[in-house]
Amino acid sequence: MNEFVKKANQKKIEHIIKNLEKRNMKGYYCDTIKEANEKILSMISTDDLVSWGGSATLDEMGIKENLSNVIDAQKAPQEKAYEEKRRALLSDVYLTSTNAITMEGELVNIDGNGNRVAAMCFGPHKVIVVAGANKIAEDEAAALARIHTEASPANCIRLGKKTPCAVTGICGKCLTPGQTICSYTVTTRFSCVADRIHVILVNEDLGF
Ligand code: SF4
Repeated sequence: MNEFVKKANQKKIEHIIKNLEKRNMKGYYCDTIKEANEKILSMISTDDLVSWGGSATLDEMGIKENLSNVIDAQKAPQEKAYEEKRRALLSDVYLTSTNAITMEGELVNIDGNGNRVAAMCFGPHKVIVVAGANKIAEDEAAALARIHTEASPANCIRLGKKTPCAVTGICGKCLTPGQTICSYTVTTRFSCVADRIHVILVNEDLGF
């Protein structure tokens, strides 16, 4: 990453961390992916049952390979995947990225099954959200635009979905059962439980 872009990102992240505090969420600055991995591992105890939502960010970080007491719904056989996603809602620690984070500190997410946004709202005792600097958006409208133009088309291609955005790169506001990944739109603007949502902001590009 260009050094001036990196410096600008650092200032943006510092600004977001202050705004997260007002929203009862805790933010952390990490300069590199390596630093972010170490930070996450320091926040998980050996007794904790850990789960996660589908995330290119987590895959790129390689963090899941360092954890053993886990529920991994993505690796479960198809007939068990739904139950595993339900079980994950009662894990001790839930790892996820966010589709976008605003300069005001709001987490903006769109989800196909709803299990990831459900866990962010309620269930796991601790939620650790990791976001690269590429996820920063000016405000909620910009965050939603980013999701429809950047995150969802790439995610649909990653997941092999037959959606307009996967074919043309442009959102067609699809409503196709089993295909759309835009079923639920959730903005986390405040955590009603203190010390629950921890947001690790990494000054690198991560996921999409
Ligand atoms: S609504 Fe459909 S076409 Fe639009 S971004 Fe979501 S999955 Fe893609």
